Order: sequence, then C-alpha cells, then structure tokens
Amino acid sequence: MVGKIEARGPAPRHERVLAWYDRHGRDLPWRVRGGPHPDPYHVWLSEIMLQQTTVAAVAPYFRTFLRLWPNVAALAAAPVEEVLDAWAGLGYYARARNMHRCAQVVCADFDGAFPDDEMRLRGLPGIGPYTAAAIAAIAFGRRARVVDGNVERVVARLHAVEAPLPGAKAALGDLAAALLPAGSAGKFRYGDFAQAMMDLGATVCLPRAPRCGVCPLVCDCAGRAAGIAETLPRRADKVPRPTRRGIAFWIEGPDGAVLMRRRPKSGLLGGMMELPTTDWREAPWIPEEVQAMAPAGTAWRPLPGLVRHTFTHFHLELAIWAGSPTDAGDAAGDWIPAQDLAALPLPTVMRKAVAHALARV
Ligand code: SF4
Repeated sequence: MVGKIEARGPAPRHERVLAWYDRHGRDLPWRVRGGPHPDPYHVWLSEIMLQQTTVAAVAPYFRTFLRLWPNVAALAAAPVEEVLDAWAGLGYYARARNMHRCAQVVCADFDGAFPDDEMRLRGLPGIGPYTAAAIAAIAFGRRARVVDGNVERVVARLHAVEAPLPGAKAALGDLAAALLPAGSAGKFRYGDFAQAMMDLGATVCLPRAPRCGVCPLVCDCAGRAAGIAETLPRRADKVPRPTRRGIAFWIEGPDGAVLMRRRPKSGLLGGMMELPTTDWREAPWIPEEVQAMAPAGTAWRPLPGLVRHTFTHFHLELAIWAGSPTDAGDAAGDWIPAQDLAALPLPTVMRKAVAHALARV
C-alpha cells in the first residue's frame, strides 16, 4: 500500500523569521547569539545610542563606553562632563545626560540592577516606550512590542498598509504584535524575534530595493503581491525645516590659544563644548547686534563662508567672526591651544565650525 503524502503549508511566520535570524542575523558588539540573554547594561547602552543613529556610527562609541565604564555603577559615578565628552560626535546630546541620570537612578533605587519589566523601565530617565520594550524583550526575554522604523517598514509591506506614517504608527504596532505567537510566554525567544525583525528590515526589506528573493516572509507579503512594496510605508508630507542663523566667535589670545566654553546644561547640545556663539534665530543678525553680544571688545572680522548643519527641527547657518582682543580676561571659558582643538570632544556642528575657522584665519 502506498502511503499518503500530506501537503504541508509553510511554517508559521515567527518560526521562519527566527530560522532566518539564526542563519543571517547580524553579529553586533552588544549581541549574544545562541546563548543566555545579554547583559541588560549592554542592551540599554546600545539601545540609547541607536536612537536616531546608525549601527555603524554606534559600534565604536559602544566599545569606548564599555572600556571607560564597564558597568552601570561605574557610569553612574563618572562626572557628567566626561560622559558628554565621550559622547561627542554621536549627536542628540540629551541622550547622554539622560543616560547618566538613568545610571544614577538604577544604582540608587534598584541596587544597580535594571528592572526587568517595561513599566518600571519606562519610569527611568531617557527610556521611552520603544526602548523599554526593547530592553524587556532582549535583556529579559519578555513578550514586548518592539517596533522601530525597520519593523514598521517590514510590517507595512507585509500587510500592504497604505495609510501614511505617523498616523499609521499604532496600527503597524498592532500588526507587529500579532506576529508574536499566542500563549507561549516563557518559551518563545522574544528577544531574538525582536532583533530578527529589526535585522530583516535593515538588511533584506531595504527602503528602496527590498531583497524579496531572500526574505522569509515572501510568500505572505501583500505589498510585494500588489507591486507596491517599494512605496511603503507611506509618509505624510513633512513640515519644512526652518533655517536659523547664528554667529560664532573665534577669539584668539596673544599666545594663539582659542576661547572655548561649555554650553548650559539644559537645551540643545547641553553641556557640550563650543565656540562662544550668539543665540540661533531665524532673523538675520545685524553687525551692531553681534558687536553687542561679543564676549570681548575688539575689531571683529567676519570670516568668508558659512558653516551649515542640520538638526532634527531646523537647519543652522553659522557665520564665524574672528578677533584678537587685547583684553579678554573676563570672558568665561577655557583657552585651548589651536593645535589641541582637533582632539577636543566637540559636537559635529562645532567640529565643522573649528575646521572652517582654522582654514580661514
Ligand atoms: Fe519586504 Fe519583500 Fe520581505 Fe515583503 S517580501 S517583507 S517587501 S523583503
């Protein structure tokens, strides 16, 4: 008698995604593959650094932070200025200040151990819903809805969601959560699944040219079937960014040292070193105003050209005025020898401004 061959459908989506991850997931410095959960300190550090920042940019900073501060207690005990200096160049500096405060709260209120559930994680400085979910899933194996931009793209295409972001965010989150298997708490690899979905978006379901031929979800993908995958997710028209303008002062002392100062602790680039600057505003500056705001009296000369930088909410055009006041003794800040400026931890906009000035004075 000939045995019946049963027709089998494809494995459930979550199994296919995990099997793909086991073979093709990225090896990243903060990841543990095929073993116990990674150290929550490492997961937290990497997730804060990865907010609005690429994996390639984060990797060297992650290694530096671990070398300088191998655990949360060491980070909590460090002066915040040192943490900001180590963060210089990574951008979104409020993250570094919040990270330092968070380390202190974890040590003071949780005995140096990160809480293992989303609700308490959300109560910590700098940890929003996404980061709390990512830490809960990856570091503690909790069932959590971990939806970053990569996951939104995969889910929007998988279900051919044409409603634009950001309005569609909640619906995409629901669809992402529906990919998790029901009723398997404690057994399912929630952390690996979260990272698998992120990797799928980052390496296969690419924004412009998805590599559907190697995608574990290709046989279910409604966006691909409809021929609209590349156009998803849709986005509502962005409000154009305004342009703000400022003047930075290149102040040389008699010995050639340059005056730098630390920005106020709160606000944009809070606590970072900078060339002294005016406010940054949309209205152009007139010379009389600039003279009045200069940290010292001298014959200022505007250097040719502008330094341009784009922040999340505005473009900045920075003009640089140079001068060598005979008496700048009262100006607040630190005098840095010009040859040491390149090694100074500076935010990117100030690194550009220093390079611009050095090439022109
Ligand atoms: Fe993205 Fe293509 Fe996979 Fe659909 S089949 S999820 S479009 S990579």
